[in-house]
Amino acid sequence: VDAREPVISDVAPGITAIDTAMAGERELNAVYFLGGDEPCLVESGPGADLLVVTAALDRIGVGPEDLAHLVVTHIHLDHAGGAGALLRRFPAATLWVHERGAPHLVDPERLVASTIRTYGPDRMRRLFGETVPCPAARIRIVADGSVIPMGERRLEVLHTPGHASHHVSLLEDVSGAMFTGEAIGSYLPWGPAFRPALPPPEVDVGQALASISRMRAARPAILLTSHFGPVLDVERGFAVAAERVSAWAERARGVLAAQPFASDERLAAALTDLAREEFGRDASRPLDPELARYDALGSIRMNAQGLARYWRKRWEREFAPPRDPSVS
Ligand SMILES: [Zn+2]
Repeated sequence: VDAREPVISDVAPGITAIDTAMAGERELNAVYFLGGDEPCLVESGPGADLLVVTAALDRIGVGPEDLAHLVVTHIHLDHAGGAGALLRRFPAATLWVHERGAPHLVDPERLVASTIRTYGPDRMRRLFGETVPCPAARIRIVADGSVIPMGERRLEVLHTPGHASHHVSLLEDVSGAMFTGEAIGSYLPWGPAFRPALPPPEVDVGQALASISRMRAARPAILLTSHFGPVLDVERGFAVAAERVSAWAERARGVLAAQPFASDERLAAALTDLAREEFGRDASRPLDPELARYDALGSIRMNAQGLARYWRKRWEREFAPPRDPSVS
């Protein structure tokens, strides 16, 4: 199978999933196409996968003037890195993003630099490719409660921080599908299992859990995750996602409470054990190749770094001596 061949599949009425074949892996990263009189793409995929996404749109029959909307759940490069290049290819498209994310798409220098710090320059290039700036004039800002009108359908915006402070999820009103981005973590369809997505620097465990509750309260009919694909059993999906966020945060807290200076490696090892236990419960497949495959996105180590930062910052705040009010 040519890794660069687009794989598309219908996942809900009028909604098509496109596998971007990120890092040459299948079922790792998805973007979604919504047909209709104002065609829309949810997520751009990374710049590295631009040709896969455009080939898929071509196969679906979306011409250069046809795409009306591009909506991103957050600005991490696997979700929005290809947005600037797509805007060039589709000159009629408007890009919708949360206000805290927009400046970084107009000027992606800091976003790219922080991604290089996380992945190193070689993996960064291989996973994400080139990130082209987005013209500010093509961007519309969304916030919690915003509605993105697109002809016969619309997307309702829920602000769902936790994974990132500016993360939004999108409820499509005709099908009841909810685009969850990375707000419920990652669903590993070949497991099947969930893995939390709690990376530095913005991770907030309490917000992640509150966001899952809010999404659940909106009663979507199906969840469409970016990593990867549809979750049909919505109630179970939310329940397991919340349980995993709590379990991973708790395991990290336990390690750090016992060993305050535990290294990222030590913490990642503890979380790898937890992931193994979860796979053991969820699937009968061999464990380690599956775990290794998923770590194309560096996920366990990234969770370790994110959770270490989260707990240390939190403890620093809690145990900081009260400020002397006479000193300003
Ligand atoms: Zn992602």
